[in-house]
Amino acid sequence: DVSVCAPLPVLGRDVTVPLVTGGEVTYAALDYAASAPALQRVWDDVAAYAPYYGSVHRGAGYLSQLSTDLFENSRRTVAEFLDCRADDQVVFTRSTTDSLNLLASALPAGCQVFVFETEHHASLLPWREARVTYLDAPDSPRRAVETLERALAGRDPHGPALVCVTGASNVTGELWPVRELAAAAHAHGARIVLDAAQLAPHHPVSVRDLDVDWVAFSGHKLYAPFGSGVLAGRPDWLRAAEPYLAGGGASRKVGRRADGGVDVEWHEGAARHEAGSPNVIGAYAIASACKALTEAGFGTLVAREQYLIRRVREALAGVPEVRFLSLFGEDAPRVGVLSFVVGGWNSSHFAAALSAEYGIGVRDGLFCAHPLVRTLLGAEAQAQGECGAPEAAPGEKSLNAIRVSFGAGTPDEHVDRFVTAVK
Ligand code: PMP
Repeated sequence: DVSVCAPLPVLGRDVTVPLVTGGEVTYAALDYAASAPALQRVWDDVAAYAPYYGSVHRGAGYLSQLSTDLFENSRRTVAEFLDCRADDQVVFTRSTTDSLNLLASALPAGCQVFVFETEHHASLLPWREARVTYLDAPDSPRRAVETLERALAGRDPHGPALVCVTGASNVTGELWPVRELAAAAHAHGARIVLDAAQLAPHHPVSVRDLDVDWVAFSGHKLYAPFGSGVLAGRPDWLRAAEPYLAGGGASRKVGRRADGGVDVEWHEGAARHEAGSPNVIGAYAIASACKALTEAGFGTLVAREQYLIRRVREALAGVPEVRFLSLFGEDAPRVGVLSFVVGGWNSSHFAAALSAEYGIGVRDGLFCAHPLVRTLLGAEAQAQGECGAPEAAPGEKSLNAIRVSFGAGTPDEHVDRFVTAVK
């Protein structure tokens, strides 16, 4: 019963913004897929700890020890949140982009990478040093698994291979068949990394249950602030790789060699890839968000979000100019991320009008997933052919879409205002 499930308190609920028509209105943050507002609880936890923070792994003082404990406890909290295996490593990074680039730097020699062209650029692009096979956009979850199986069947079964896949699309919100893709990868001797940037804030992610080798996500999409992220999973490739960053913290022992050079022994655990002074506040904030979401209960959070999705879809069902973008079909299971175009409107103008006239913050563009959005808009332009797709004025961006996204902090009023504005 969603009526008993209130939105979780987030920062910025009372922020007012000026309207072009005069007056002010509270800001409706409907761009959670880009960055979600931080939970009030995360802010309170961080504020309570902030006066006490000190250097991590470096100081003998009481506050340094306290910070080191909090940092390492945060690691354990994240491992629990992701239901990691006992020997998995949790590495704190800056973001999902950083996590996937770290993994890309740790690929074994000759590793072949398989990635769908529909991925966010953060999972599409970091594999430049590897042999990459780009897989065509599938039109159903089943086709995604078949496409991957076919590609993997043709690979050298003795060489290392990695599949990189998103759990929930940042464009359509659609859920990808992660468990089945992981089974296909493993059946062909490949590893798999899950880009959970959009999935983790909306759904429980169990490394064991999904049987993925690594998971990456960002704090700022999981109701914590910017600047921290996670890569969690199998230790072997990470341990065998050169450190992602060279420096203090990653090195256990450094000495001069007889020939004048320098010898380094690197750490083997997570510290190997966390050189430099760590972002202890960021790690603590992520851990606080993990606890808050677990305590609120994903069952309740998912139910409320599905209710909000239905509210938007049903209210706009009778507006023929509004066309939602989807790869797997309009009714495919998804998180609270919806992209659309409006017949007769330039998407950037439309998004600007939502902001200026209604105080609603959405996103317009290609959402750092250019191949996917181009594919979806290509299909859409054809579909709109009969009713006449809008022509852009010279110099204007015409090939883009509008994205509305929400989550645990979204009140009904925000989606209702959005629907009224679109209508
Ligand atoms: N993957 C997906 C699916 C995303 O939506 C995003 C952010 N839009 C990223 C990766 C990259 O996240 P970040 O910008 O925090 O590195």
